[in-house]
Amino acid sequence: MDVYGLIGHPVGHSLSPPMHEAGYDALGLDARYVTFDPGPDAAAEAVESAATLGVAGLNVTIPFKQDVLDVVDVDPLAGRIGAVNTIDFGPLHAEKADRPRGYNTDAAGVTRAFEHHDVALDGRDAVVVGAGGAGRAAAFALADAGATVHVANRTAERAKALADDVPDGTGDGLSDLGEHVASADVLVNATSVGMEAPDETPVSADHLHADLAVLDAVYTPIETRLLREAAAAGATTVDGAWMLLYQGVEAFEIWTGETAPVDVMNDALRATLD
Ligand code: NAP
Repeated sequence: MDVYGLIGHPVGHSLSPPMHEAGYDALGLDARYVTFDPGPDAAAEAVESAATLGVAGLNVTIPFKQDVLDVVDVDPLAGRIGAVNTIDFGPLHAEKADRPRGYNTDAAGVTRAFEHHDVALDGRDAVVVGAGGAGRAAAFALADAGATVHVANRTAERAKALADDVPDGTGDGLSDLGEHVASADVLVNATSVGMEAPDETPVSADHLHADLAVLDAVYTPIETRLLREAAAAGATTVDGAWMLLYQGVEAFEIWTGETAPVDVMNDALRATLD
């Protein structure tokens, strides 16, 4: 049996086990997906222990996505983003490599979520609100897909630093966010604003419009105020579970080498959100 899993602190809230296990069952794979909380400071040690125990793959969540950079062979995209959320132990065995390989599939989570909703990204103007882990993944994903990216963040210096790393990126604080959104084609909320707080939104409804496609990375609640107001403005809306699904689909495909059963995994994920 192959063992996959998630390390984080905490991990009790994770929606990944049922989603991945539904995928294994659909493909007849003898595999299980479990969660590990190694405590606040033990991510690197946990990855090394997982390798010794023969774990086949790990997802990595808050607060460890940067901590594990030192113990994996970092894929170039994950290196540019500066965070790893998927570790594949396969190369350790198949290629006798020194370290497992570390990827960032949050970026594919963003682009594949838009692709699923027939939202074109090449040549479009995109705004990313947030410059933390999800914001960095979204900004690189959109730029690599051909969009021109503006990053807006509460802490302006973080937005500017991220924009400097992204091809043709610009970055600033939140004061001009409305104007950027009003002329944009694509908007990603990569802040935690709206999470468990249905009355909060990072973007005023006045600036939302029918030519916009909006992805909210927040998935608790699944329908945020931002998405509700974007739908009312006639925008295309993409909820955070699509990003969560496709980051998982991408990890599943890296680990197993199989095409993931996306519909089955989506049904399992949506069932846990009901
Ligand atoms: P993070 O690294 O801690 O970054 C948090 C971001 O939110 C920062 O840009 C922060 O701005 C901003 N922020 C926090 N509170 C704010 C407020 N009151 N007003 C304005 N900005 C605020 O977190 P993360 O990992 O990027 O996650 C961000 C969100 O994305 C979370 O809700 C997370 O659940 C979600 N997420 C979803 C997926 C998915 O698959 N759907 C994947 C990853 C993350 P400062 O820089 O100024 O602090």
